[in-house]
Amino acid sequence: MGEFELIRHYFAAAPCAQGGDGVVRGIGDDCALLALAAGEQLAVSTDSLVAGVHFPDPCDPFLLGQRALAVSTSDLAAMGATPLAFTLALTLPTASEAWLAAFARGLQAMAQSCALTLVGGDTTRGPLSLTLSVFGRVPAGQALTRCGARVGDLLCVGGSLGDAAGALPLVLGQREAAAEIAEPLLARYWSPQPQLALGQALRGRATAALDISDGLLADCGHIAQASGVALQVESARLPLSAALRAFAGEQQALACALSGGDDYRLAFTLPPALLAEVQAEWPEVQVIGRVLAGSGVQLLDAQGRAMLSPRGGYQHF
Ligand code: ADP
Ligand code: MG
Repeated sequence: MGEFELIRHYFAAAPCAQGGDGVVRGIGDDCALLALAAGEQLAVSTDSLVAGVHFPDPCDPFLLGQRALAVSTSDLAAMGATPLAFTLALTLPTASEAWLAAFARGLQAMAQSCALTLVGGDTTRGPLSLTLSVFGRVPAGQALTRCGARVGDLLCVGGSLGDAAGALPLVLGQREAAAEIAEPLLARYWSPQPQLALGQALRGRATAALDISDGLLADCGHIAQASGVALQVESARLPLSAALRAFAGEQQALACALSGGDDYRLAFTLPPALLAEVQAEWPEVQVIGRVLAGSGVQLLDAQGRAMLSPRGGYQHF
């Protein structure tokens, strides 16, 4: 199968590459054309996933397709953007039809669940890697950024933390667990659900937001720095799933929640007066700390004493 036949068969002909609100021109020209309504801004984000660095190689291609798009789309959620379209730059060592078919199915599943249209990409030969760019729309001036946290705001997260990091020994085949423990943890690694609806609901409410990809403490550090404030995290308030506690034990579960990557939950700062209405609609939202004057991230233990925080999030260099 040649390059163009491959692109046509697995990508241009995929259901997720047809039509789409705001897509004027999709795959097949030199550029895709996207239309925004008056008063909207375009939110753009790119993520690369490299075999052996961001995912084990070999791995299930369906799960990889699903996860690659989820990871990128989580950035749209973090800005409060509504998904519009995405592109896929795919580098493959070989053009295996079974691999491509499964990968395209995984991509399709996540594209459908996130209402994203595939509008272009690039296909090359080399060591397996994927680069996805996602595009979203947001009312002008209303995107959630990292820089608006104010002293007195609450620090909140959109659900349990640490599950994906805790699942790594399962992902890598180093450990096994009973299905009722392994399945929810593996699902949080392989098919994180971008918190798109929560992000959109936080427009005009949250003062700062991001998605947790590199670990809670490291990512909170980004909000603290961009907003010129300090964030205080109370370790006793971190939402840890029953599966993670059972699999990793209490101490390791806490370490995964604080410093493990790949959560793809939103973390955001919220004026206290808005908490009740947000939690009424989103009961999974938990307060884990607050915004203080100062700089950096402080971690409190269960007795409210300052703790030395474990190593920060993942850094490539
Ligand atoms: P060009 O040479 O103009 O860059 P290509 O020959 O690389 O175009 O690709 C042809 C068309 O197929 C373009 O519209 C491109 O965006 C699209 N495309 C290429 N690879 C992919 C892919 N992996 N997924 C989706 N679209 C792709
Ligand atoms: Mg090209």
